[in-house]
Amino acid sequence: MSGNKANQLNIAIVGSGIIGLSTAHELLHAGHRVRAFTRDALSEITSSKAAAIWFPYLARPVAAVNRWSRESYERYLTQLDRPEAGISLVDLTVLVKEPDAWWKDAIPPGTLHTLPPEELPGDTEYGYTVKAPLIETQLYLAALEAEVLKLGGKIERSAVSDLVELADDYDLVVNCAGLGARELVGDTTMYPVKGQILKVKNRADVRHTIADYSFDAAGEQAAYLIPRRDFLIMGGTSIKGDWNTTPDPELTTGILERCRRITNANLDDVVVDEVVVGLRPGRPEIRVEREGKVIHNYGHGGAGYTVCWGCAKRVAELVG
Ligand SMILES: Cc1cc2nc3c(=O)[nH]c(=O)nc-3n(C[C@H](O)[C@H](O)[C@H](O)COP(=O)(O)OP(=O)(O)OC[C@H]3O[C@@H](n4cnc5c(N)ncnc54)[C@H](O)[C@@H]3O)c2cc1C
Repeated sequence: MSGNKANQLNIAIVGSGIIGLSTAHELLHAGHRVRAFTRDALSEITSSKAAAIWFPYLARPVAAVNRWSRESYERYLTQLDRPEAGISLVDLTVLVKEPDAWWKDAIPPGTLHTLPPEELPGDTEYGYTVKAPLIETQLYLAALEAEVLKLGGKIERSAVSDLVELADDYDLVVNCAGLGARELVGDTTMYPVKGQILKVKNRADVRHTIADYSFDAAGEQAAYLIPRRDFLIMGGTSIKGDWNTTPDPELTTGILERCRRITNANLDDVVVDEVVVGLRPGRPEIRVEREGKVIHNYGHGGAGYTVCWGCAKRVAELVG
């Protein structure tokens, strides 16, 4: 289907985070009429709290995540020529504990390099450099929302309590409620993965993007340095089951301490502008499936920006 009026459907989307907006964009492009409902203001949702670097992280199942990540990577490449959208390609260094880099299949050929042992910091065992899209969320979400509106989509601030009831008024409903799906469809497999990050004044001595996931076996503590246009993002945590969104000073101390271990820059004088806490929508597997008049697209964990365009494409296929 592509812009064919005869096949035009009236579609409601629950959620206007990165998943709802990318899905809306894809369906508008396919020629449908779209209205998205959001319970929360844009600045409050998880998508506004993300770093965000393209990298398959805390998301399953492996084969689908790799495919969706790859498709999203390709989409980001087409958006590089609009600086206002906030996409750029950066050299990302990734440090990990396990020899099996399951996400390798998502990386376009020629853009992944294994670091030799002498280039690995401290006792890190495995490291890679990847050419990765950096998605400056502070620009990207606003630009995408503007595009959705320009394509004729509507975005309405209101909470939805019943998908079946909503489906009475539309041809189809797409559930992009993120962690909100836990309550909305009673999906008790969903859990929050708390991420705390620091927005720090940009500095000339930290211009390289690096993410170290090798600190602990549980994967709760990471260190990352992501220079964006507005701030240097320092992270982070991935604490499963923690719903508390109040910034935790102890976590901040831990982030600063771990970040010192992955850079030669002297971080003693960092100026923390803001401590941000967001809850990733954790789920054993991302759910993209059709159930009658409802299509689900939620549970993207730590990879919403990494897989969004591939998932949106899948939703468009499920619309038929
Ligand atoms: C600190 C941190 C760093 C991250 N870094 C990265 C990264 O580098 N790369 C990456 O790919 N990902 C990253 N992520 C993960 C990414 O942010 C998430 O996977 C993504 O934002 C999920 O998007 P979403 O649209 O599903 O959810 P959300 O952004 O939470 O949006 C959910 C939407 O649903 C709406 N909603 C919920 N319930 C209802 C309801 N009942 N009625 C109406 N509306 C409803 C909400 O109001 C909102 O509009 C990070 C996350 C955090 C917290």
